[in-house]
Amino acid sequence: MDKPLQILFATPEAVPFAKTGGLADVAGSLPKSLQALGCEIKLIMPYYRIVKESGLPHQYLGEEIEVPIGDEKLKADIYLGHLNQDIPVYFIGREEFFDREYLYSTPKGDYFDNAERFIFFSKAIFIFCQRMGFSPDIIHHHEWQTGLIPAYLKSVYQNDPLFSHTAAVFTIHNIAYQGLFKKEKFWLTGLPTEMYNPEGIEFWERINFMKAGIVYGDAINTVSQKYSQEIQTPEYGYGLEGILRKKRENLYGILNGVDYEDWDPSHDPHLIAQYDLKDISRKRDCKKDLLKEFHLPSSLENAPLLGMISRLADQKGFDLLMEILEQLFALNIGFVLLGTGEQKYHDLFTQVARKYPQKAGIRIAYDDRLAHKIEAGADFFLMPSKYEPCGLNQIYSLKYGTIPVVRATGGLDDTITHYDPATKKGNGFKFIRYDAKEFLNTIKGAISFYSQPEHWRQLLRNAMTADFSWERSAEAYLQLYRKALEKKRGSISG
Ligand code: ADP
Repeated sequence: MDKPLQILFATPEAVPFAKTGGLADVAGSLPKSLQALGCEIKLIMPYYRIVKESGLPHQYLGEEIEVPIGDEKLKADIYLGHLNQDIPVYFIGREEFFDREYLYSTPKGDYFDNAERFIFFSKAIFIFCQRMGFSPDIIHHHEWQTGLIPAYLKSVYQNDPLFSHTAAVFTIHNIAYQGLFKKEKFWLTGLPTEMYNPEGIEFWERINFMKAGIVYGDAINTVSQKYSQEIQTPEYGYGLEGILRKKRENLYGILNGVDYEDWDPSHDPHLIAQYDLKDISRKRDCKKDLLKEFHLPSSLENAPLLGMISRLADQKGFDLLMEILEQLFALNIGFVLLGTGEQKYHDLFTQVARKYPQKAGIRIAYDDRLAHKIEAGADFFLMPSKYEPCGLNQIYSLKYGTIPVVRATGGLDDTITHYDPATKKGNGFKFIRYDAKEFLNTIKGAISFYSQPEHWRQLLRNAMTADFSWERSAEAYLQLYRKALEKKRGSISG
């Protein structure tokens, strides 16, 4: 039998420890499926305040490592927790960097020292491996926060036998967040100055951490096929489309799976009533409960209820929603939204709640329990995103029989098929152009099926029987790891 692949999964966030978005769901669930496929996997992430205060079991290992940053050596503490009881999660701690209220930014903007914080984290990963004598086959790293890792592998640690066979696989979850910093900070990285040029880490006279992952990674992927194509165009590439086109032989799209242990209405502990396709009537109890939660009138029980759960950011298409508010609320519908993010949206949605108190329930918060209740209690789920690398909520919605109305972009396009009443195929509703009228018309079209029992039952069936569990995607990652290792071997022998 082959020796199990040794994977180090380097991530800035992972459920259940720390989460700002979909990446955390991925990092908390994909490793379990990789382990089931025979990989030996360890996670490594920063020791944020929220981890310290989480109450989740973890211990101080009594280990301290020294991480060179610029001409200083900064100490880091190592802690150990677990995912699924037997997958080790190592935490890199340094109070000065990670003992803060938020992970990367406050509602006012990014932390001023994010470059230092994530240079520190990325470098600490190598020193951690050296201390533990751990020689990974693959470092699977995620997002700009860990983008420098392959640059270190190809320079500072190139001659360390511990890493001689180690390949880097870089997953891009959202190319709009690149980790751009002043060039004056380059020396803090300790990378050779030759790497600071337009073929390397430089991006219009600044450092770009994500670009480092793309340029130096042995394999790169994004979280849906469609998004892997979109980011090669100026509209979606945020300036990195050129380098991505150059690397396209090495750029893959692997759709995120979801963890049905957490997101399945038949055993969801957050719900007032559990249900499945056979016992769908209990979804109605969840709807009543949700209306109560938002202090909305019970008369809305018979009207289509539209739900949203989202980071409140421009990406998510809120400008389209704002444009159609009046026409939308003229319809016989209810609307609930849960989200946090940019201040301007906090203000706008607070006004919406005031203007439509009988129809709109708004909660400006981050609340996992309420997210589950919305998935179960709503009838439709809206995602009019400008771009959406994968999107998880539409996939959760399918399982909960909450019909997605989405814009055909990225993972939304790959997972949702428009319902066709003639063939009775399709699990949701899609519009193509980023346009408010198209969005409104698609909502109108979707809710017209709500009062047609035959079609509605069919839609629920199509949605709730769709399977997006991790097995298939984990297998695709395994193949990607093998490709990256081959490439690495080729580069050593060649
Ligand atoms: P993104 O990663 O762009 O934020 P995704 O759809 O991939 O979008 O993932 C978002 C994840 O974050 C989902 O699991 C969603 O339920 C969760 N989420 C987003 N906002 C909130 C919130 N305010 N409260 C609870 N969960 C949230």
